[in-house]
Amino acid sequence: MITIKGLHKSFGNLEVLKGIDATVEKGEVVCLIGASGSGKSTLLRCVNGLETYEQGAIDVHGRRVRAEDASIRDIRTRVTMVFQRFNLFPHRTALQNITEGPIFVKGEPRAEAEAHGMALLARMNLADKADAYPEQLSGGQQQRVAIARALAMRPEAILFDEPTSALDPELVGEVLAAMRALAEEGMTMLVVTHEMGFAREVADRVLFMSGGRIVEQGPAAELLSNPQHERTRDFLSRIL
Ligand code: ADP
Ligand code: MG
Repeated sequence: MITIKGLHKSFGNLEVLKGIDATVEKGEVVCLIGASGSGKSTLLRCVNGLETYEQGAIDVHGRRVRAEDASIRDIRTRVTMVFQRFNLFPHRTALQNITEGPIFVKGEPRAEAEAHGMALLARMNLADKADAYPEQLSGGQQQRVAIARALAMRPEAILFDEPTSALDPELVGEVLAAMRALAEEGMTMLVVTHEMGFAREVADRVLFMSGGRIVEQGPAAELLSNPQHERTRDFLSRIL
């Protein structure tokens, strides 16, 4: 579904991605872990065409992802993204946040977009919040609206960038539960997270990033219980 080959990305003189090779297969849940500053968000943003890159290639379902190409709008409807800070439009209701993309980007009829939006809200246990504005919702509820918004585009894969890092601890579980349900339904997901319990239980594979490289990858249980690389061991010993 997603193929990344020899990806290099710099900001000015700072090389942030130093040759990334990675794949995410259809239906796979891949967790990306690593210290702050290792390049995780930049990698996700490249995959979503929010950043340009200098070298290498990213393909989504056989189509090249390049931020500067006209096709990027279409690719962004097939691979959607959920951010740490929800990024909901503050002056739109939960339902309007969800239907905006389908109506204005994909040209779906409003009635159809709204019916789908209501079904997605119900799936996120937010059926009664359709008319609420973001500020009237808890962080966990806002993030579940953001997940519903990502799903509204009927994407082939969803990228999550630390979706629970901005939440109060008591709200983390409801968002992880929603993500786990998506994973069980077969959604293809690439998830940057510090939630090692989630990675262990839900991820098919874990990638460990350090200094702009993927240093180690493997099945979740294996990598987390028996890391081979010293930098992985060091990172895990600090986080667990
Ligand atoms: P992570 O998500 O793993 O914490 P990031 O991808 O956010 O890491 O950042 C990797 C490096 O790139 C950091 O050194 C960060 O300061 C730098 N960086 C990220 N975005 C930009 C930007 N827009 N301009 C300049 N430097 C950036
Ligand atoms: Mg980040």
